[in-house]
This record gives sequence, C-alpha cells and structure tokens, in this order.
Amino acid sequence: MRWTTLCDFACFAAGIGVVAWLADGAARGVPGMGPWIAATAAAWLLYPLALRGGVPAACACLAGDDAPGTASCLGRAGGVPVVFSPRYDITACGLERAHPFDSTKYSRVFRTLVDAGVLERGEECVPSQLSLAQLTRAQGWWWLARLGYGLRAVMALELPPLGFLPSWAVWWRVLEPMQLASAGTVCAAELALARPSAWAINLGGGFHHARHGFGHGFCVFNDLTMAAQRALDGGFGCRRLLYLDLDVHQGDGIERDMGWDPRVAVVDAFHPGLFPGDAAAAACPALAERGARFFHRAGDGGDRFLEWLRTELPRVLAAFDPDLVLYNAGSDVLVGDPLGGMDLPESAVCERDAIVFRCCGVGARGGAASPALGTSPEGARLFRASGGRRRAVAMALSGGYQAETAGVVARSIAAMDAELGLVEAAKAGEAPAGS
Ligand SMILES: [Zn+2]
Repeated sequence: MRWTTLCDFACFAAGIGVVAWLADGAARGVPGMGPWIAATAAAWLLYPLALRGGVPAACACLAGDDAPGTASCLGRAGGVPVVFSPRYDITACGLERAHPFDSTKYSRVFRTLVDAGVLERGEECVPSQLSLAQLTRAQGWWWLARLGYGLRAVMALELPPLGFLPSWAVWWRVLEPMQLASAGTVCAAELALARPSAWAINLGGGFHHARHGFGHGFCVFNDLTMAAQRALDGGFGCRRLLYLDLDVHQGDGIERDMGWDPRVAVVDAFHPGLFPGDAAAAACPALAERGARFFHRAGDGGDRFLEWLRTELPRVLAAFDPDLVLYNAGSDVLVGDPLGGMDLPESAVCERDAIVFRCCGVGARGGAASPALGTSPEGARLFRASGGRRRAVAMALSGGYQAETAGVVARSIAAMDAELGLVEAAKAGEAPAGS
C-alpha cells in the first residue's frame, strides 16, 4: 500500500467523521453549521484533484524526475529479463469476477513458467512504480486528476460494480496494479535495450487503448506509449522503434500518441469489426506510410495470418531498421475468446510469437548463430529477410480473456525459450544492472 492510499484512507475515514458530526449538529439545530458544511463539501470535491492529479503531477513535471539514461523503474533486476510482480493481479473483494478479463492471469503465467523450469523464483525482474513525471507525460495531468475521482477510471474499465467502491479502494485494488504492470513494460523496454541478450517479456501490461488525456476499453494508462517514450528519449541509443500490435483489437492509443513521430513505425493486425475501429488512429503516418495493417476475421484461418506475418514483419524491419521492437502480444486472438473474433488455434499463437523473436534474432540459438548451434532454417531465413541484425524486443501480454489463456501464453514463452535459448542467452550475458 502506497502513502497516497494511506492518505486516501485516512481522509475518507476523517471525512465520514466530519459528515457525522455535521449531521448531528444540523439535527440538533446548532447554529452556524452552514459554512462548515460548505467547506466539507468543497474539501471532498477538491481533495482527489490535489492528491492525485494537478498539483503533484505538475510538481513532478517541473522537477523532471525522469532523468535520461537511468533505469528508474527497476525495483530489483534479476538474471532473467522476465518482468513480473504478484501485485499485477487485480482483485477487488470478488468483484473482479464480474469482468470478462481473467485478472489473475499474470501470476498464473509466472507460476506455469516456474513449474515448467523456464526460470526459478527470484530470477525475474521486479518493477517499482512509475514516476509521476512519466505518468504525466504519457497521460496528461488532467487525465490523472480526473482519475483521482475513481469513477472516471471505473468508466474506462467498463466495470460498473466498482463504482460502489470509494476512489481510494479503486486506486488500491485496480489502478495501482495497472500502474505497476505499466512500469513493467517500461522496465522490459529498458532491459531489452540495455542488456546484450536484447529481449525482455513483461508478464502483464499491454494497455494499448489508453492515450493522452483519455482511457477506454479496460485501459487507463498506456504502458506502451510510456515504454516508447522511455526507449526513444531515455538515453538508450534507440533511434527508431517498431510498435508491433498483434492483439485482436486495434492499438489505437499508441497510434494516436506516437503515430506522428518519425522515429516510430507501426505494424497492426486486428479484427476490423471490433472495438475501437479508430480510423483516425489508423491513418497515422507510422502505420499508413512506414508500417503495415492487416485485417483478420474468424474463419480466415491461422495459416493466412502467419503467412502475412512472415512476409510483412521482415519487410518492415528491413526497410525501417528499428533498434527496438515493442511487441504487444495480445492472446485474445485465441479461439473461443469472448471478446475476440480471430479464432487462432494455440499452435498459431505460439508460432506468431516465435516468428517475432526469430525475426529479431535474439537468444543463444537465434539470429546469426551457426546451424551447428541449432538455428532452424526458418529462423535463419526470417532473420536474414529482416535485415540480418539483432534487434531488441520487448513483449507485453495485453488482452486475453479466457481461463486457458495463461497456459497458452506460458507454453508459447517456454517454446520460444526451447527453440532460441532465450534464458541461456540472458544468463550468459553481463551481470544484471542494478543488482
Ligand atoms: Zn484486445
């Protein structure tokens, strides 16, 4: 629990006391209660604005606590660049079960990876919370101020039962876990760029619908925009960045936020009949001129999707030559997803992730490694077609709404590790920074 949550709770309790005292006074006809009632109402109205939004956000921006070149979001850097905290899970006294999103999939993916022997507990990287300056830059102080009231967040999250909770509870149980998962994506981008192994996976995040000053579609903070800003302006030597969105929904948030930045290209495959259907976002130069867009519906078949990815991703990588691929790996493309509609089988989801990592040439057996080390002909071909140089890749989990999703994600990561030697390459690299 953060100090802001404690402040929220204390003020909430004090507010209840003051209101009870005023009500008692008014009932007994004590004179002069009017100004007290007005002052209490004003304090209740303005308090979230002062605590969460305008004042502290503006101060943090002026202080500039987002110094370039420092791994500010790293709480503890482990030997394997899998970024995770059990605090990613969103639980709210059982109310979370009313939501179609499996809000504990993050820890289930982590546990499955540990059980499969991909990594050991304690080897993961644990993020600490984002600075207010990072949040404010990506989301805008006015949006943060509105989130102080909780109710606006509940609307963005499309979870009306949460509206019955006080805003401090919404922050504590929902928004702070989402903030931490957002820090995880920033952390993953930093790790991918800073370490020689050049890959990192955040077992959360991928809130690609939020944008500056606005949130919708379960997304309140856009971690991908924050990671892109951090990668490009944080002193990591990242000149260009490819944002690759293979979630079933369009990545409208980052397209609107970063799509006019000439250092960014976007490749986005999504179902054209689903939320958000944002034509203005899709018209951004990063996607329309430098990237690629692909429509895929249920019934089109996994082979068609994979064939497009095998062709277009290497083409854009070779032409745009980015230093980092920011990969939003939504698993709501999986067959049967209630909010999806692409109906890809598990094998296609695993192959999709592997194609991305093969193109980037990461892992002890990826990229330019000799065939004697086990490089597959397919992996070597994709790597050469992508320009033949290793590129950093940072992956976030994003959507995925079924009980089976966590297992599919974990099996996909384990399969990539088995093929490419991801963990082996990470452990063979330099000692983790900051540990
Ligand atoms: Zn999605």
